[in-house]
Amino acid sequence: MTKKRFQEFLSYLCNQYNRQIDEMASNAYFEAAQGIADEDARKLYNDVLGNCKYFPSLVEFKEIVSMNKKDVVPLKNTQRCFYCMDAGTIAYTKKGVPPFQDYPYTYRARCPMCNNGKLYSSWISFDQVFDQKVLEEIKQKNIERFGSITVSQEKAAQIAARAYQKQIVGGKYGN
Ligand SMILES: [Zn+2]
Repeated sequence: MTKKRFQEFLSYLCNQYNRQIDEMASNAYFEAAQGIADEDARKLYNDVLGNCKYFPSLVEFKEIVSMNKKDVVPLKNTQRCFYCMDAGTIAYTKKGVPPFQDYPYTYRARCPMCNNGKLYSSWISFDQVFDQKVLEEIKQKNIERFGSITVSQEKAAQIAARAYQKQIVGGKYGN
């Protein structure tokens, strides 16, 4: 929230609860409101009114802010691993082995590109199964589709990315 919008927000709040607060306290509330967009100030205001009989303590206020934050703070995309969408693993499919060639099966390999992948250190790495080129294609595709999503969309994006990965058939081992 910008300082200007916040000051508006805070003065409504002070009027509503018939309360004055000094500049130091005001700054603390302002910091606590970081991560809330200007256009969501009204919802935050309504949530405070709905939840607090008295002027909210800083702790109460932080709680209400964090309830609102989930939906409005976009992830910094520079921090997301677009190879695996932060899942740590990347799926791929192998053709069925005769006589079950009609039954392909899905594997998951470790993402070699991020820290989440390190959680699966005993798994085979995706770049051992496929060329780097395939990894780059996955990354490009994920950036195109999920370049700007919010935290609340993260899980859905991982599932959608997984569905696409499963169409990647083959690899260096077996068929
Ligand atoms: Zn990754």
